Amino acid sequence: MDFGFDARTEELREKLLAFMDEHVYPAEAVADEQRAALDSPWRTPPVVAELKAAARERGLWNLFLPDAEHGAGLTNLQYAPLAEITGRSPQLAPTATNCAAPDTGNMEVLAQFGSAEQRERWLKPLLAGEIRSAFAMTEPEVASSDATNIETRIRREGDEYVITGRKWYISGAMNPDCAVFIVMGKTDPDGDDIRRQQSMVLVPRDTPGVEVRRAMTVYGYEDHWHGGHAEVLFHDVRVPAANLIGEEGGGFAIAQARLGPGRIHHCMRLIGMAERAIELMCRRANTRTAFGRPLAAQGVVQQWIADARVSVEQLRLLVLKTAWLMDTVGNRGAHTEIQAIKIAVPREVVGILDRAVQLHGAGGVSQDFPLAELWAGARTLQLADGPDEVHQRSLARRELKRFAPAQA
Ligand SMILES: Cc1cc2nc3c(=O)[nH]c(=O)nc-3n(C[C@H](O)[C@H](O)[C@H](O)COP(=O)(O)OP(=O)(O)OC[C@H]3O[C@@H](n4cnc5c(N)ncnc54)[C@H](O)[C@@H]3O)c2cc1C
Repeated sequence: MDFGFDARTEELREKLLAFMDEHVYPAEAVADEQRAALDSPWRTPPVVAELKAAARERGLWNLFLPDAEHGAGLTNLQYAPLAEITGRSPQLAPTATNCAAPDTGNMEVLAQFGSAEQRERWLKPLLAGEIRSAFAMTEPEVASSDATNIETRIRREGDEYVITGRKWYISGAMNPDCAVFIVMGKTDPDGDDIRRQQSMVLVPRDTPGVEVRRAMTVYGYEDHWHGGHAEVLFHDVRVPAANLIGEEGGGFAIAQARLGPGRIHHCMRLIGMAERAIELMCRRANTRTAFGRPLAAQGVVQQWIADARVSVEQLRLLVLKTAWLMDTVGNRGAHTEIQAIKIAVPREVVGILDRAVQLHGAGGVSQDFPLAELWAGARTLQLADGPDEVHQRSLARRELKRFAPAQA
């Protein structure tokens, strides 16, 4: 078993680490300052365009997309350590390299299921980083962790689809650069097969009847680095029938396909966040003195740091194994491991960030350190892309089935 990175990954890691030091970390404070002067906190600060140009010039662009025709053509195993590095600055690095959710998942959907016309109109500008996009599935009125509950209606009328529904926590939608929504709804609400009732359609933001009603906060944060999270209403919105993605009834399957890679990307970025937390903990502990000795000399602080290192090493190995399985046996074959990382990584990283906050005292909950906001972001990943309990239920059922008594 070889635990080393291959030559291409190593080369990209070195380039990305240099890009982070030279461009991304110095831009963090600049972005905050620029944002304060903008008319909307969700608008992209101008420094991001400079970061994008620098990333593109260095070949650090669309690294997430395995399809070599449209993206960098990396395997999951090659991309995972790169996503980890961008996770150290989640507010800037994923966007700077055009590897930010939810655009990544949406680009994958368009590359895999979009028509030639849809790819030309939407995938091209997304790949070029000229527009942003959103994915609209969750609804306030129904338990949306069960996608079969979705109530938004997508009715066929002649050459058009008419969309009526209410969505919330639609990431990226507060950013005016978000030009298009992929909307999931029901085209056949009474169909016998509950997994064939849903479809997905592309809805340009400027279509009459689309109302971006308000921003949803995350523990009070506006989450501007994601372009916010919006409540969006679709009031009898009409789009051409050609805006259907794939086939009618195919929405559930596309949603499943979209989530596999997205989950591994989130987990790798979380590991990057944990690495940043460990670094901040060590720097703080080495330089702050209480009761006559540095915090670093306290046994409890040493235990937090050691436990964090042990956790991160375990999590990284599990995520890399999952990436390797996805590359070798496919997303379906890696089902158990994808669920395992989605359960284990956010939970552990929330714990690490929580102890990093504690070590920083009041500074930990303040705006002067990134820890509080990182904690809030990591905590939401115990809900987004499927709550922990849903993954635990499904994983446990598969385990139980393996040892079920034979039927008579
Ligand atoms: C920051 C953030 C960003 C998001 N971005 C998007 C986005 O861009 N697009 C989008 O469409 N959605 C987005 N979401 C929504 C997210 O995907 C949903 O919140 C998630 O799927 C859960 O759905 P729900 O909120 O309706 O919870 P519900 O389905 O109401 O579930 C509530 C709770 O019930 C419990 N539960 C549910 N099912 C089970 C079960 N089978 N066994 C045991 N317990 C169970 C769990 O504890 C769960 O947390 C985002 C959410 C957040 C917080």
